[in-house]
Amino acid sequence: MSPKIVPTDIISAELVFKDYVAFNENKVYLTEDVPDYVAEFFKEMMPDFVLIIYEMFNPVCPHCGAKLHRHEIKEWEMNKKTTVYKQRYKCTNKSCSKTVTTELPHIVDKHCNYTKDIKKIGNELEDLEHISYEKKAELIKKRYGIKIQRQTVQYHESINSEQYLSKKEEKITQIIKERNIEFSGIIGYDESFFSINGEKYVRTTSIDTQNHMILNDQIIKYEDFDKHFIEIFMTYSLKDLTAYSNPYIPNPKHPLLLNDLKKDTMITDGYTAYVPIIEKLHMTHQKCVFHKIMNQRTPVWKTTNKLQRQLEKTEEKIQQLEKLSKGQKPGRIPVKDKKRRKKQRKTQKEKTRKNTTKKRHQKNKQTTERI
Ligand SMILES: [Zn+2]
Repeated sequence: MSPKIVPTDIISAELVFKDYVAFNENKVYLTEDVPDYVAEFFKEMMPDFVLIIYEMFNPVCPHCGAKLHRHEIKEWEMNKKTTVYKQRYKCTNKSCSKTVTTELPHIVDKHCNYTKDIKKIGNELEDLEHISYEKKAELIKKRYGIKIQRQTVQYHESINSEQYLSKKEEKITQIIKERNIEFSGIIGYDESFFSINGEKYVRTTSIDTQNHMILNDQIIKYEDFDKHFIEIFMTYSLKDLTAYSNPYIPNPKHPLLLNDLKKDTMITDGYTAYVPIIEKLHMTHQKCVFHKIMNQRTPVWKTTNKLQRQLEKTEEKIQQLEKLSKGQKPGRIPVKDKKRRKKQRKTQKEKTRKNTTKKRHQKNKQTTERI
């Protein structure tokens, strides 16, 4: 049986590299558009004395248009880890004779040590889940062998987030258009309270309850949160703010002068402050069913739990009295009787807890008296 011969195209290394990579003695020249990971690859494969040099694809003087000549090389610590070089040139036009360094706009921003790929990792991870800057720095170290301070990760994230978010917004707007999602006018509003480093904050959110799109979402300090803020927040949530993201409208009107979105119903919890605000907005007010259920159930739960505890205690007493009346001492409960053993453990625990608290109180009292 002869092996099947499959016709293949022969791809030579020369074909892949010919326009981008040149070898010369102990130097590897890469053109300015070759990705940084290729430079990393050569650095790893070649002996230490080989220099990796980025050069211009078309060395022409940006000032006068004359040809440039190789002049010297400038060291660059890519990601503060890999030493590569940038070719510097001198203009052949004697009346210009300026010096030009190879820029790498595809790989790195001006005056930056870290490449664009490394700088965007923080935002990409944040897109999946909230991870601390420290963990992000740790991951970059593990995955790429790059030492980076958590403050640097934070800085990269902050300068890129605006751009990153607007790209995301663009994508979302496109999806909304494609899927023909329309605003229903039925809005759900709620707040959540939390603290960061001991400082209290409030997050207010309004969503379209039909398609679950967020209309407005804001985090403010607890002391700034009042009825007045809720009114402003709700009013802005109902304004059509598309003019602000439309580049063809250079100076959009103040948000309060813009048109309202479709107004129908506002769903909130039972907090009374909402009532006059929603009336002012000319909307129907509906109390959230979930909050309503919770409000009705809480007092019932409290009472039933209390009664349940009382019932358990009385049952125990009855059992002990029954045993005593039969002439038995309340003794050890058989292992098989799991229900009663569980109950016994619970009462013993409760007793110990009460005793300890009592002792602690007494001790405290004594100490106070001594003082
Ligand atoms: Zn020139």
